[in-house]
Amino acid sequence: MDKIVVFETFYNPIEANIVKARLMDSGVQCFLSDENTITINPLYTQALGGVKLHIFEKDIPLVKDILQDENIQLPQEETEAGVENCPNCGSNHVGYVQATKKRFNLLTMIVSFALMIYPFYAKKTHHCFDCEYEF
Ligand SMILES: [Zn+2]
Repeated sequence: MDKIVVFETFYNPIEANIVKARLMDSGVQCFLSDENTITINPLYTQALGGVKLHIFEKDIPLVKDILQDENIQLPQEETEAGVENCPNCGSNHVGYVQATKKRFNLLTMIVSFALMIYPFYAKKTHHCFDCEYEF
């Protein structure tokens, strides 16, 4: 019998399921534990120590390879864009900010999950402080 180990602990059940799905796609046997409790009540996440991803010990190098290839780790911060001029009024009083009007809601999360798109970063946008134009 191969030993089963906890490969990683996730505090986000959706992320855990995405990773699990990727591993299953690649033929790696794995399962999650403590998942249902957390999905029903996220407040329990801390108490339980998160959703645990279990794999066979012998698959650890393979799993690491898969997750690296798929770039499924948390996305890196986008590099800040250089200062640009506003295309609307020409002002250089422009910031690179979180796009407030494009925030993810629960439905977006569910749809993204269904489509296997990684949804955990907010889109950033340029914002002109003079005319409020976003580009
Ligand atoms: Zn402007």
